[in-house]
Amino acid sequence: MPDTERSLQDALGRVAGAPDMPALGRLAEEFLGKTGIVGKLLASIPSLPPAERKEAGLAANRLKREIEAAIGARREALEEAALASERAGEGFDPTLPAAKPRRGSLHPVTRVQRELEDLFTSMGWLVLDGPEVELEHYNFDALNIPRDHPARDTMDTFRCDAEGKLVMRTHTSPVQVRAMERLKPPFRAIVPGKVFRNETKDASHEHTFHQVEGLAIDRDLSVGHLIGAMKTLLRGIFGRDIEIRLRPGYFPFVEPGFELDARCPFCQSGCSVCKQSTWIELLPCGMVHPNVLKAGGIDPEQWTGFAFGLGLSRLTMLRYGIDDVRLLLSGDLRFLEQFA
Ligand SMILES: [Zn+2]
Repeated sequence: MPDTERSLQDALGRVAGAPDMPALGRLAEEFLGKTGIVGKLLASIPSLPPAERKEAGLAANRLKREIEAAIGARREALEEAALASERAGEGFDPTLPAAKPRRGSLHPVTRVQRELEDLFTSMGWLVLDGPEVELEHYNFDALNIPRDHPARDTMDTFRCDAEGKLVMRTHTSPVQVRAMERLKPPFRAIVPGKVFRNETKDASHEHTFHQVEGLAIDRDLSVGHLIGAMKTLLRGIFGRDIEIRLRPGYFPFVEPGFELDARCPFCQSGCSVCKQSTWIELLPCGMVHPNVLKAGGIDPEQWTGFAFGLGLSRLTMLRYGIDDVRLLLSGDLRFLEQFA
């Protein structure tokens, strides 16, 4: 069908020469619309002898595909040219805001820390901050840990001067002493923050980790108040009541001191988190030692206090089922992006 072939070549030539998008749109209508060459060909089929109809139908379809493909290609070329000229020309404004950068997400430790801060501030507690490079006096002496005390061995730290007067704090407790010096009792405060130990790193030890310590000073505080506060804390973290138990524990700055265990929130009869015991050793706590109150300028005859130290890194690991503490400080995005 030489006529059809000529019409096709003519159409393709005009499409390729279309100067802009409106012209291209008009050509599409002209060629592919009801009265275009394809439409005419299709309309003529019923009047053809039956033997020729199939071939005419195939030819019409081929024509349609070729013209559509040519229009698509021309449209792409026009769009590209328009973009290029826009970038090069006066209309292009490089001061317009760029595409927004990808937003990061809060670190899992930060998330749990903020939850705890919300929980305690809702109960009237203060949230305090203190220096990470601390005087030996606040980190040890004022907490009833003099130079020759064996407890210093378990808190081997990084020293910042030759005499060891300036250390990276090994716990957040020094802020408790600073708080007692500054605040008038009664008061209640938590201290979240980074602490440092000279540790050999493994899946459960890090040289830098996070703690939250709490201190309440008031008249006639008892172990009952301590237990009440700890149960509220656990209910806030795990969303339900968690059974707890106290075992005697020794910490120089409390008397009596306890190890608080919580019933494993993950199992009924033992799992790897609780080492098959159904109990998780969660935090040391106790009634503030009179010597510590005195060091903070508070009269132990009039005031009492309780304190607890919560491993924030450990709690975060429990909450999210993280099995290696080193992941927390790894800066590994494959790990962190899971908390977005
Ligand atoms: Zn368990």
